[in-house]
Amino acid sequence: MKVEVLSTGSELLRGKNVDTHLGFFARELYRAGLEVRHHQTIDDHPGRLVDAIKLAAARSDVVLLTGGLGPTEDDHTRAAAEEAFHRPLVYQPALWARIRERFRKSRTPMASINRRQAFVPKGAAVLPNPNGTAPGFCLKQDGVFFAALPGPPREMHPMFLDHVLPRLRVRRDFELWERKIQGVPEGTVDELVRRAVGSRAEYGLTVRWGQVTITVRAAGPGRGSRLAAVARRLERALGADNLYEGDLHEHVAGRLISSGTTVALAESCTGGLIAHRLTEVPGISASLLESAVTYSNESKIRLLGVPEALIRAKGAVSAEVARAMARGIAARSGAHVGVAVTGIAGPGGATKDKPVGRCYLAVGGWVEEKTFRGDRSAVKERAAGFALNMLRLRLLRGEGYAGATMGVRALR
Ligand code: ATP
Ligand code: MG
Repeated sequence: MKVEVLSTGSELLRGKNVDTHLGFFARELYRAGLEVRHHQTIDDHPGRLVDAIKLAAARSDVVLLTGGLGPTEDDHTRAAAEEAFHRPLVYQPALWARIRERFRKSRTPMASINRRQAFVPKGAAVLPNPNGTAPGFCLKQDGVFFAALPGPPREMHPMFLDHVLPRLRVRRDFELWERKIQGVPEGTVDELVRRAVGSRAEYGLTVRWGQVTITVRAAGPGRGSRLAAVARRLERALGADNLYEGDLHEHVAGRLISSGTTVALAESCTGGLIAHRLTEVPGISASLLESAVTYSNESKIRLLGVPEALIRAKGAVSAEVARAMARGIAARSGAHVGVAVTGIAGPGGATKDKPVGRCYLAVGGWVEEKTFRGDRSAVKERAAGFALNMLRLRLLRGEGYAGATMGVRALR
């Protein structure tokens, strides 16, 4: 089944908004066993919208269109579908009642033009939108499945997952295994994965900020047991503890909360990025006690109790200072674990023996020295990810773990 995505909206073509819908569809559809073959981005122009729908319907089996379902003059999706599929728009009293009810409940005044949203092409099924006023719709014509979804991601995502994807359900003849690993060069991961997977399955790697995502896909008969065998081989080759599922910060936050471990952060070069990541997760207040952005030497001394003489002797960017920062924030906050990062984010600040990107990361008494590549924000992102992964390993293996058996090192 060939899928085509149509992203609509002039803002997308003016660089004001970034199209995140395509990536979302592509990921979800790939998992479901469908692949996106084409993508068009169209501005809010009625004629071009009709042309785009016609082209998509002529060459694809599934057409997913987003945006333009609002009630205003620049929302053309309903009219374009009417013209492209030769189906007059029909008024749906039930839909109108639901829209009015929504406005009444949220006590927002409603303009009469909102009634436009109660029209859908003849024979189309309405896709409910519990997160907004604009309902979506879908129809089938000449073997083509067409769905129109609202633009805002928080409305579009649930509508797609709850009401569109189930209608597309194909019999999947493959299974996926996906894990992430942090801090190991992509080339090394690739070599180990290639050897472990062999001809048993296909695999792909994606890299972001030092985190490599490994996706293995096994198809055909016996795929379940083949994939399980590949997973075991991968765990052996890369170290089972080094592999995790989902987002690193969510994973770490979940572990902190479920184990009742409290943590405090002292961030220099990451400027609060680790705290930002952890505070994205609801419920983290049970574990994250505090976070200090101690950028100057003076604040490292005053807020964390790092000895001035230590900074003078070793430099603010050093293993010794990172350890003293982690110990200082843990002692002052009463947290079980202190985490600290100090480093040179660049572009300036390098010294004879400390290049740009050099960071010292401490979790309790465990310190790692790393030199991260990239510009300022890359160094910050990589350092935050690396520190979170150290915290993950420490939570997994318990107190006293100081990275001696960290697979990352064994792989180097
Ligand atoms: P509304 O009723 O809010 O007008 P709509 O269905 O008419 O919804 P649009 O007006 O096209 O949708 O888009 C509304 C907002 O949704 C945009 O301003 C943008 O923030 C977001 N949006 C739309 N398309 C995309 C996209 N492809 N990727 C990411 N965000 C998008
Ligand atoms: Mg709109």
